[in-house]
Amino acid sequence: TAAVVLFTADLRLHDHPPLRAALDAADEVVPLFVRDSGVHAAGFDAPNRSAFLFDCLASLDAGLRKRGGRLVVRSGPVVREVVAVARQCGASEVHLSAGVSRYAHHREERLREELEHHGVELRVHDAVVTAVAPGAVAPSGGGHHFAVFTPYFRRWSDLRLREPLGPPRKVRVPEAVESEPLPARSEVEGVSSDVPRGGEEAGRRLFGRWRRDGLDAYEERHDDLAGDATSRLSPYLHFGALSSGELVHLARERGGPGAEAFVRQLAWRDFHHQVLAARPESAEKDYRTRHDSWRRSKEAEEDVAAWKEGRTGYPIVDAAMRQLRAEGWMHNRARLLVASFLAKTLYVDWRVGARHFLDLLVDGDLVNNQMNWQWVAGTGTDTRPHRVLNPLVQARRFDPEGAYVRRYVPELREVAGRKVHEPWRLPAERRAELDYPEPIVDLDEGLRRFKQARGRE
Ligand code: FAD
Repeated sequence: TAAVVLFTADLRLHDHPPLRAALDAADEVVPLFVRDSGVHAAGFDAPNRSAFLFDCLASLDAGLRKRGGRLVVRSGPVVREVVAVARQCGASEVHLSAGVSRYAHHREERLREELEHHGVELRVHDAVVTAVAPGAVAPSGGGHHFAVFTPYFRRWSDLRLREPLGPPRKVRVPEAVESEPLPARSEVEGVSSDVPRGGEEAGRRLFGRWRRDGLDAYEERHDDLAGDATSRLSPYLHFGALSSGELVHLARERGGPGAEAFVRQLAWRDFHHQVLAARPESAEKDYRTRHDSWRRSKEAEEDVAAWKEGRTGYPIVDAAMRQLRAEGWMHNRARLLVASFLAKTLYVDWRVGARHFLDLLVDGDLVNNQMNWQWVAGTGTDTRPHRVLNPLVQARRFDPEGAYVRRYVPELREVAGRKVHEPWRLPAERRAELDYPEPIVDLDEGLRRFKQARGRE
């Protein structure tokens, strides 16, 4: 007997229920990854993510080879490829992790239909991509999802997670099924200079180190921009090289306030997944409120270009935007403040910012990115949608010495102390020496425009 496991956002061997179920059901298993032309057509294979993805595939293949197997890679429309592989090996089952996006739902439906024609059963597994399946926590007052995090988190915390599964001991792959050569990171052009190495092995090493050296201080230090004290696990979680359920388990085992705060962030991830699962259209449309008064002028376009390039004249914003370009990653506090700056201070449609993030983020994720952008823009699940983050207040609080700014904005490296956050206050001669722009917007004016547009003046 044979079965196929279609790997998607779950590129790992540890804690992988679809793989475990396939191995239990069949003598031979095809671990399959499809370079899906649908994903390419939607523009989701940006270079930074492709580079990281290819590392993940290499790591998965290496792990399978250690166990007597190998990864099978195909390219094309995903449904066609899965059906072809299932027929080639005579599989009776195809196993897949449930996804939450509209695309994932559609893929699942079409796979089920097509496979059925050939007498093959599709088995979809919940709680593989998230720690808790969307829908596992439902509000008691009715409705199928939570729109507010705190009550969701209370219920989420009460659930008992399944014990994480170990990796398989042995995987036998039918010889007749051919694979394309594995794509390599070196083939990808336009990758940011500091994209980390992907893959399950690298992810497990990073988590192990971070659990030992960083987790305990996470609660106190997670907002310290220069301290860079968060886990940086997001790309591994995005591709499922690590299992969020297993991380919850391991963090709880260690315990303490740092672990609790970290688990809370993983619950945010699940929270956004259950919102998008219930309302898949919110990947594009405003979740709560409808706004169509966003600025679309030529001037707004110039502001967007300055924001993307990190030359807004606000050092903390520019540092963050340049971090994104260099590393394909940005600190969460920085994501919050640059998103607020674009959507509220500049009053530009959040989708413009979300798209730019997706073009560069290694962890760029339709769920976490769109739902966080909506949260910040005040169109999503924030219970205080009118709050505006003042970049100067944020800078003084979360980068008090200016070390984060100096790290990413070399033009300001020689400016000492907190003055680095307000170069426009430097004496005129000193100011003239710096090759650094004037602020593109007056913060008070931005605030007035936002309040007026939202009818709150
Ligand atoms: P840690 O602080 O170590 O947190 C651990 C893990 O918890 C993260 O790896 C992540 O998986 C999860 N997590 C933490 N915060 C959040 C959150 N607010 N929402 C959902 N999950 C969270 N995260 C992405 O994974 N992909 C995105 O595309 C993305 N886009 C974002 C866009 C904006 C505008 C904002 C404000 C946030 C976005 N986030 C996104 C959430 C968050 O910023 C990142 O997950 C985090 O910065 C990753 O760094 P870390 O792994 O060191 O996080």
